[in-house]
Amino acid sequence: MSEIVREEMEVDVLLVGAGPANLACAYHLQNLIEKNSGTGGSLGETLIMVIDKGAHVGAHVMSGAVLDPVALNELIPNWKDSGAPVTTAVSKDAMLYLTKSGKFTMPWVPASMHHHGCYLISLNKLAIWLGEQVEAKGCEVFPGTAGAELLFDGSKVIGVQTDDKGLDKESNQKTAFEPGMLLKARVTVLGEGTRGHLTRALTRKLDLDKGRNPQTYTTGVKELWEFPEGTLEPGLVYHLMGYPLGNSQFGGGFIYHLSDTLMSIGLVVGLNYRNPFTESQALFSQMKAHPHIRSMLEKGKMVRYGAKTIPEGGYWSIPRNYGDGFLITGDSSSLLNPARLKGIHLAMKSGMLAAETIFDALKKDDTSAATLSAYNGKLRDSFVHKEMFKYRYFPHMFHRGIASAPGFILKNLFTGFRKRPPVAADHLSMQKLQDYFGSQVPDPEATRPKADGKLIFNKIDSVYYSGSTHEEDQPAHLQIGDLDTCVTKCAEEYGNPCRLFCPASVYEIEENEGRRQLKINASNCVHCKTCDIADPYGNITWVNPEGGGGPNFDGL
Ligand code: SF4
Repeated sequence: MSEIVREEMEVDVLLVGAGPANLACAYHLQNLIEKNSGTGGSLGETLIMVIDKGAHVGAHVMSGAVLDPVALNELIPNWKDSGAPVTTAVSKDAMLYLTKSGKFTMPWVPASMHHHGCYLISLNKLAIWLGEQVEAKGCEVFPGTAGAELLFDGSKVIGVQTDDKGLDKESNQKTAFEPGMLLKARVTVLGEGTRGHLTRALTRKLDLDKGRNPQTYTTGVKELWEFPEGTLEPGLVYHLMGYPLGNSQFGGGFIYHLSDTLMSIGLVVGLNYRNPFTESQALFSQMKAHPHIRSMLEKGKMVRYGAKTIPEGGYWSIPRNYGDGFLITGDSSSLLNPARLKGIHLAMKSGMLAAETIFDALKKDDTSAATLSAYNGKLRDSFVHKEMFKYRYFPHMFHRGIASAPGFILKNLFTGFRKRPPVAADHLSMQKLQDYFGSQVPDPEATRPKADGKLIFNKIDSVYYSGSTHEEDQPAHLQIGDLDTCVTKCAEEYGNPCRLFCPASVYEIEENEGRRQLKINASNCVHCKTCDIADPYGNITWVNPEGGGGPNFDGL
């Protein structure tokens, strides 16, 4: 391959990822700069740029979602009159416990899960709207542009190289080749969402998680269902416990009535599971096939599908989220409260505090770690820290579902609650086939509900409803460390769990002339990052495909 000549561009602030955290950061920073200019300040020419790997802002953004509007109120006080897609106030919270064929309504909903004053939203739509507000403020927003690599000067982050477009599978340049640019920035803000690949690389390079717990995750699988007018009760929230996860697995289901015609339904499954045949998409199908849930869905039609991992480690997994030339916001910084099932308000507030930190740093013309460390102090003085700290033991108490709570409480009553409880990375929990099943290893296909194209969907059909597309002829964005391990060690020891934990049917084991090999259907990928987290050997690395590829989580 001939040497690539890359264009360089200098910006003041580069935000990687157009989720709620970074969009709030861009908007708030531009606000601060406008106010400063009005009083004769010198930051009027500041160039703020947001890049995102999705084809448009919001394309890769999805969540449940329940929004606590506390940060939105602060960021855009008149959001109600500005067309924000935040219209359905939560009217009622209910908690259902499902047995295999029955259910009972829990007499109470834990205080942390009360949603009074919150709204049921599509996070995808909120991101699109926030993106419009940010553009209207004069910030540069470039969707379809992935951050491929961080740029360094020593250990100082000085920007990002964007993705090359038009490389073939062997990394040869095709006729329409466009080299990625070197975007050099005084401050780079990583708000890539869950398991961002640049954040992962930076964390490893600079040991940002030293002295913290490893991040732990769930995979959330979700569908959007449409119903005839007047069928649903807008604002109704159901939390689901029990079947199909049981009491020893972290996770649970949710049903949100977004309007009288739209329902959001999903299941989140902790990735610290022991059963190597755990399959979140199949468990979600089992949940929908439960008689009570089936009856709820009878008059509806599935219209969208999506899946994403969720960082659930909470307070003790917050990494060092600042350094020379960079800040980390939102989910990338573990700012999600699993006890409240909410993170959007924390993400947005972290973005706003990052903006205030950057504003001060630009005024001082000093973007060193010492100056940017003020971000940490601002987070500590805000509701973000208060909330994260309050629920700091939640992920540990429920790491094996409700079954682990009594043991955790009893143990800590004697040893004291003050220490950081140890946690292992999720993939270390998975047991080998023989250890989990003994000599009778079941066929995972046998327990999977049969697809009928109405209530239950196979993964390929689900991918269709995620809108995911990728250029086929491009370098692999799912990098396998050792392909031999897949067909030898992993097949024998774990039964190739990638076939199951991927909610988009990307991985298959096929026989070719008597030889088994791993087939990767990369274009199905919905960018959930489960494989990067759950593979028992850490053999799969997710990197960015060409910007613009991937899902379109329209309405999710
Ligand atoms: Fe998720 Fe990995 Fe499957 Fe893509 S390949 S959908 S990131 S598990």
